[in-house]
Formats: sequence, C-alpha cells, structure tokens
Amino acid sequence: MKTYHGSCHCGAVRYEADIDIGAGTIKCNCTICTKMRFWAAVVAPSAFRLRQGEAALREYRFHTRRDGHHFCGECGINVFSTGESPSAGPFVAVTVGSLDDMPVDDLVAAPVRYFDGRNDNWVTPPAETRHL
Ligand SMILES: [Zn+2]
Repeated sequence: MKTYHGSCHCGAVRYEADIDIGAGTIKCNCTICTKMRFWAAVVAPSAFRLRQGEAALREYRFHTRRDGHHFCGECGINVFSTGESPSAGPFVAVTVGSLDDMPVDDLVAAPVRYFDGRNDNWVTPPAETRHL
C-alpha cells in the first residue's frame, strides 16, 4: 500500500489515495464505463482523501443512481467514482489516468479485472474486453 496523488486535467481537483496497485485494477463494459474507457483502482473510502476542488466537482448518476461519477466541472475529467458493492461494501474507484505519480511500469504490471456491468453480471467477466 502506497499513497499516490491524483488530479483532473486543469488541476482544480486534487486528491490522495492509498493504493495497493499490485492487487490490480478494474475495467467494465457498462454504458458509462465504455464511453469514458473507465480504468480504475478501487480503494476503501477511508483510503481516499479529497485535497482540493470540492466546489469544482460535479456528480453524475444514472439508471439505479447507485454509483456516483465525480468529474471536474471545468475540464470534464472523471477523477473518481463512488458506489457500494453488494460483496465489498462502499468503495471509491479512482481513475488510473488521473493519477499523477503512479509509475507506468507498476500500472501495466498490475492485473486487470474485467466486469460485465452491461449485463449487471459482476461474477463472470465479459467475453470481449479488448475495446475496454
Ligand atoms: Zn479540472
């Protein structure tokens, strides 16, 4: 577990997160994850600290409105999403693209877990993942 720093593109939003990148990252094929090519590291809410930009953040919810997608209202970058997993409880999923000091070598070495969110199937990965 290491502390990393992340931000949106314009720098209005800044955060820290304690991440064990070796534990892996996630991608998902649901409608919003596909559109923004969501690639995230999942942490407990206690491991996430918003340092700056609360006023700049906007939140988007859809469908069941269970998950919040938090993006900068100025530059539009989705920096993290929040939700509650039936198995693991509340979580924060920080987008790996918004991490400023995650070494690329560590990121690409981490395993990726794929979710079939499009079919609300959180057990088995989707058959096709190359476009995610
Ligand atoms: Zn921004």
